[in-house]
Amino acid sequence: MVKRIEHLGIAVDNIETSLKVYESLLGTSCYKEEMVESEGVRTAFLRVGESKIELLEATNEDSAIAKFLTKNKGGFHHVAFEVDDLEAELQRLSGEGFVLIHETPKDGADNKRIAFLHPKSTKGMLVELCQEKIS
Ligand code: ZN
Repeated sequence: MVKRIEHLGIAVDNIETSLKVYESLLGTSCYKEEMVESEGVRTAFLRVGESKIELLEATNEDSAIAKFLTKNKGGFHHVAFEVDDLEAELQRLSGEGFVLIHETPKDGADNKRIAFLHPKSTKGMLVELCQEKIS
């Protein structure tokens, strides 16, 4: 079951300068910064009510964010939906014909297990599914 919009991912060229903009826009401070080495990204999170904004900066040229920024100036990159059972949702969506970028969940930022759906099966939108890690 899809529960809510967990966060919106925004690609930026520089986390520090972008955080200043988003902190004053939202009137709140970043509550977590985290590197995700496997994705080549540095992330920073801000709360917006029950949802979050995730700023993403590339840490190397092979990062999906680096590639995104060569085609776009930055901005809206992906929407993340929180689900209650990630494996079950991936199986359901695969059965519905959605194209999975990750067949099995992987570790993401902010204590989540994540998997992405390919934009070619979602009318052009990069979709992340995430579930809180049970610790
Ligand atoms: Zn995300």
